[in-house]
Amino acid sequence: MELIDSHAHVYGEEYAADFPQVLERAREAGVTTMVAVGADLESSRQALELAEAHPHIYCTVGIHPHDAEGATEESYQAIREMALSSSKVVAIGEIGLDFYRDRSPRPAQEEVFRRFIRLARELSLPLVIHDRDAHDRIMAILREEKAQEVGGVLHCFSGDLAMAQECIEMGFVISIPGTVTYPSNEALRDVVRGVKVEHLLVETDCPYLTPVPHRGKRNEPAFVRLTAERVAELKGLSLEDIGRITSLNTRTIFRIPQPEEHSTIAYMIRNSLYLNITNRCSNRCTFCPKFDDFIVKGHELKLSHEPVFAEVIAAIDTKSDFSEVVFCGYGEPLARLDLVKEVAAELKRRGLKVRVNTDGQANLLHGRNILPELAGLVDVISVSLNAADPDTYQRLCNTPFGADGFRGVCDFLREAGKHIPKVVASAVTVPDLDVEKVKSLAEELGVEFREREYAEVG
Ligand code: SF4
Repeated sequence: MELIDSHAHVYGEEYAADFPQVLERAREAGVTTMVAVGADLESSRQALELAEAHPHIYCTVGIHPHDAEGATEESYQAIREMALSSSKVVAIGEIGLDFYRDRSPRPAQEEVFRRFIRLARELSLPLVIHDRDAHDRIMAILREEKAQEVGGVLHCFSGDLAMAQECIEMGFVISIPGTVTYPSNEALRDVVRGVKVEHLLVETDCPYLTPVPHRGKRNEPAFVRLTAERVAELKGLSLEDIGRITSLNTRTIFRIPQPEEHSTIAYMIRNSLYLNITNRCSNRCTFCPKFDDFIVKGHELKLSHEPVFAEVIAAIDTKSDFSEVVFCGYGEPLARLDLVKEVAAELKRRGLKVRVNTDGQANLLHGRNILPELAGLVDVISVSLNAADPDTYQRLCNTPFGADGFRGVCDFLREAGKHIPKVVASAVTVPDLDVEKVKSLAEELGVEFREREYAEVG
């Protein structure tokens, strides 16, 4: 499992006595990488030294709003030089506004914030932003200074869902600290529930904001796992899912090199094992995210080639603790009918539950009724119905079979129940789709119905 603590002040006095043990506990908790965040000249230097000394530590440099009053031309220059001096510097920050403590006069805070946004734009580095009780000014300054050109992180996010969405539209991600575990912090949990996981990071902000059950003690990177566990619970995903997705998000925003993806053929989401055996499909659905990128819940699903039987089985054998195997991926699995049958036979021999997610056009594609061939091999088939009439289907799914495409999916659903124990028709809740009509059609066809959330994959 991989976890990244995206914001740690893991230097200085607080860790002087036991830093090696802190790193060891982080490693044991699955924290593979951390970002040491500078908050003034001194701590930016310390963060940079740490990053230079440890391959898995990256850093940021900046001046916190508390120290804005003391910022001089020399300090801007020093931060600029540090940012240019090493590829381990991945962002400008921590910068921003703090109107809660007001330790520096507000005009000074705003001036320093603006100067650093300009520096980030000059150096093409993302921003790490501190916002305490200054939401409106933060948003106004980000817009005025064209911060969307570089994007970045709203660290220890404390705004509401509307602000989070606005930030995301500007190319920022939302970082969730340990306060998400505090009983009273329902507002932050609402943000986590409402924001797509692809826009979330997790952080400790250590040594501050220690999560439950260690609240009151010094925080440290290992505790980011507790935050990730709470986020996983709120998103209905596993800890491994959250670790993988937020790590990918952190690496993407900070341009930290991605680790080698060992296998995109078999991948886990929650406790299901998915098989990605082709990127081909006949439809070109308007809502399909694969036309933007091939990443699903932190997994890169772009295949370099279509795997053969032995590769699929080898990929399955690298995974454990799954309750079902799903042929899915970013393509139509039944386009590779022979491989599906061969792999499913092996999975059944091992006593595993098998599901196929399909666009329901396999009979049109192969020119025969293929469903009897899946009998005894497939336990559940989930068919994307997506519409209640041919025109809507054509508009949403762009089938190459014209009106036959929609009729073919309906026929496939009717026929499937004769050969497969459980048949489910699904529809993506595209904004103008009458989902109730699709549900009624599924009932007429004698199959179960399931809504799939629009713009949510996996
Ligand atoms: S059938 Fe599936 S993979 Fe193919 S375009 Fe439609 S949603 Fe995407």
